[in-house]
Amino acid sequence: MVKSFRRLCFALMVLVYGSCWAQTDAQAPEQGVFNLHKFEQLIGKETYTLARTANEVTLKSDFKFTDRGTPVPLTASLTMEKDLTPRDFQIKGKISRFSAIEDSVHGRSAGTITIPPGENFFDIQGYAPVSMQMMLVRYWHSHGSPKILKTLPRGEVQIQDQGVETFTIGSRKIPLHKLSVRGLIWGMESLWMDSQDHLIALVSMDAEMDHFEAVADGYEDGLATFVAGAARDGMANLAKVAEGFTAQTAPVTAIVGGRLIDGTGKPAIENSVVILQNGKITAAGPATSTTVPEGAQVVDAKGKSVLPGLWEMHSHFEQVEWGPIYLATGVTTARDVGNEREFIVAARDAIAAGKGIGPRLVMAGVVDGSGPFSLGVIRVDTPEQARDQVQKYKAAGFQQIKIYSSVKPEILKIITAEAHRMGMTVTGHIPFGMNAIQGIEDGMDQINHVEYITPLMVDPKSKTIDPDAPNVKKVINLLLEHHTVIDDTLALMEVILHPLDHPISGFEPGILKVAPELKEALETMGSPPAKADQSAAMFRAMEETVRLLHQAGVPIVAGTHQAVPGYSLDREIELYVQAGFTPMEAIQAATLVPARAMGMEKDSGTIEVGKRADVILVDGNPLQNISDIRKVSTVFAAGKMYQPAALWSSVGFKP
Ligand SMILES: [Zn+2]
Repeated sequence: MVKSFRRLCFALMVLVYGSCWAQTDAQAPEQGVFNLHKFEQLIGKETYTLARTANEVTLKSDFKFTDRGTPVPLTASLTMEKDLTPRDFQIKGKISRFSAIEDSVHGRSAGTITIPPGENFFDIQGYAPVSMQMMLVRYWHSHGSPKILKTLPRGEVQIQDQGVETFTIGSRKIPLHKLSVRGLIWGMESLWMDSQDHLIALVSMDAEMDHFEAVADGYEDGLATFVAGAARDGMANLAKVAEGFTAQTAPVTAIVGGRLIDGTGKPAIENSVVILQNGKITAAGPATSTTVPEGAQVVDAKGKSVLPGLWEMHSHFEQVEWGPIYLATGVTTARDVGNEREFIVAARDAIAAGKGIGPRLVMAGVVDGSGPFSLGVIRVDTPEQARDQVQKYKAAGFQQIKIYSSVKPEILKIITAEAHRMGMTVTGHIPFGMNAIQGIEDGMDQINHVEYITPLMVDPKSKTIDPDAPNVKKVINLLLEHHTVIDDTLALMEVILHPLDHPISGFEPGILKVAPELKEALETMGSPPAKADQSAAMFRAMEETVRLLHQAGVPIVAGTHQAVPGYSLDREIELYVQAGFTPMEAIQAATLVPARAMGMEKDSGTIEVGKRADVILVDGNPLQNISDIRKVSTVFAAGKMYQPAALWSSVGFKP
């Protein structure tokens, strides 16, 4: 591998410039700048210097971006032997708006891990800083390009050489080496290096699991090309995972003997038969009166409950790993509420065409206004831009528009009017300078996150909600009058607001099963222990808001905004029961109510004849113990059968 890479380097050298490993012997410090992006929006910069003396090499990096107004600064230094073997590593700062980090490694040990003498390893932690990833690849290249490379303070990475791609950036044609890296984030990163092993571009995820891109100074024009290249890699991966799951589709399936909880609200049928044929439900009822067609593949559901496939109403399907995760959780339809347009369209189409694996995707296209807190690159600052973007989303098959926080109040009305004219609905954040009442009056049909409602209901002094207070009644009546739908994301708020000195596993055991690199990032989320009381009061008020809205008849739909992938949807459903929903109502908040909210109840949301064959089997009885919703044992998505254990394993989670 090294040999062939060097040979290739030599060939490239003739085409481009310099010699392949020349910088290894140079004594002048190497310096560089990376432009940092989130959802393709430039939000920061990393500068690094790499200094060499006779016996060591030292990298110093200064990384900082500002995400929606919150600075995320990070510094790192790494001292290496001349051959890049790490000696001393220090990292300190933040890796997302909600995550802090401080760590160091000296020599070959960290915590309980010691790398035996002679064995290759590198010091690195997570996706940032980017120059650390560049040094990781240089180390890997110069140490025989091993299949697996151990890392400190923990973990390992897999790096693969994906060959040369030629990019046209400005007027230059530039051949770059593409590499894929696994192990630093959950999922795969795409990196492009030049012939001198300078990192030119990296397309990855940040610690909030959002699209993150870094591009070396001078290559900024290539950003869209790099993003498209990474999306292609992602889809190819999705297709590869899907290949392993294609054999399990029978023309007719009979789910026999289970407790049918059809989601309509009717009592459960203890011994039932459900027939799936050509992707549809063709029969469902008591075993005594429902015929099993001859030749049907029989699935024994004794001791299990049979429920409609779940809906996830606050998805950010930003990497292909979400596909298997959602299916394993029992999610057969996910509404994406904010993504890179090209990426989510490609993912939706791949899944719909059977070339990828995942739930059916319905989509809300995100728009934002310009400002210091903006997200992404789709801006609607004028009425013309607003109408144009709504039309573009409509043309790409989006069902909804998602309002983001920096949309100007005077533009909101124009967006909602245009969306309604195009037959779309509008969900999202309440823009700065407005409250939820104004947002609804200006045409928003739905609201993401309950924290836009709670401040209108809570008593500022006591921090509690009086159900009889006039302001509380006013908000509830307005929501009812407008049939406003709320996806509250309580489970996400619980993760963000829980005190950092309490492990997430105390309320969300699923975190013990997620991929290690993801677990590490999630465990940095939480609120300062000193503010524990304040955070707990805030969370209680949000729970109380959800309880009162539900009690009054406001549609509440389950969504997670990622949080602990998959499991947070289960947690959301558990929290509903904690907030006073009956178990059936909690299940409906993740099935029938979302289907109605999206105008898709004729096709989805319950187990009834004629609907899509989205059915899950769950061990136990969630009507008695709502946490049984975590025990999904089989999933049918449009009639295709999946086993969760294999799905979890395919993305590095424990089954
Ligand atoms: Zn979100």
